[in-house]
Amino acid sequence: MNNRPVELEVTNLCKYYDAGKKRKLKAVDDVSFVIHKGETMGIVGESGCGKTTCGKTCIGMIPRTSGEVKYQGKDVHTMSKKERFDFSGKVQMIFQDPYASLDPHQKVYDIVAEGIRIHHLAKDKAEEERMVLELLDMVGLNAEHAMRNVHEFSGGQRQRIGIARALSVNPEFLFCDEPISALDVSIQAQIINLLIKLQKERDLTMLFIAHDLSMVKHISDRIGVMYLGNMVELSPSSELYKKPLHPYTQALLSAVPIADPKTSRERKKIMLSGDVPSPVNPPAGCRFSGRCNKCMDICSKEKPELREVEPGHFVACHLYNK
Ligand code: SF4
Repeated sequence: MNNRPVELEVTNLCKYYDAGKKRKLKAVDDVSFVIHKGETMGIVGESGCGKTTCGKTCIGMIPRTSGEVKYQGKDVHTMSKKERFDFSGKVQMIFQDPYASLDPHQKVYDIVAEGIRIHHLAKDKAEEERMVLELLDMVGLNAEHAMRNVHEFSGGQRQRIGIARALSVNPEFLFCDEPISALDVSIQAQIINLLIKLQKERDLTMLFIAHDLSMVKHISDRIGVMYLGNMVELSPSSELYKKPLHPYTQALLSAVPIADPKTSRERKKIMLSGDVPSPVNPPAGCRFSGRCNKCMDICSKEKPELREVEPGHFVACHLYNK
């Protein structure tokens, strides 16, 4: 039970795209969750499950089709221009690909200083300089890096620059859209550890998107698992790894590498049959029914609701209907 205030409240969020011939691609379909102050929530799922669209809709980067997203009690999608400007100082994003999200010919200093300038956070040039250097130091870069162009840096260093840019406006909430998936495995842990450290130091609230469960394990307090636009399981992180309930989560977890060779050998890998169906024409009933090894008659007829089956542990699966 988290007693801290709710920072982000998402209720019945839907994001549909026109797919022609009066059909809709239901990228996000009736998703609800909350994130408390200082909490990190991970969302995982395969490509095309709607996790990034969900995150972007949550911070108002793309319009919703229906439902509600409230940040600190204010609807993100009906904010005035002034409210949106204030919101952009509180909510920042770390992008998936640091090669695409930073201009390679821009100086690191200017990238990090931009938010400080837009939000008038420094009283003069000297204070701006001090703030930029502090931010670079915070993410493990130094003053010598400030005047170099982005193209001179490796992927991991570029992601550090992206993090410094996001932190420059002193945000309260970070939306991290698969921030390590474009990086070498050797660098991924460094960036995760940096984000964990910054989250603690600054009491940040975070929404962290990842395509597999190994990436979110250490950073998330709670994890939501998405499949074909639906949230199928939502649980405290430790509980999800110990006792995954949804057959899809069980399959995802069975594919997470284990360091201990003996445990790894003994673990049974669950192979999912078939491909993820099209979100334009999802299966009736449970959207996972065509790939589930525990599918029952009811599964293709009735859609399972996301229900709390243990304190704080929600699952959308007919196996847990009492
Ligand atoms: Fe499998 Fe049925 Fe549960 Fe869907 S509702 S995950 S098909 S058991």
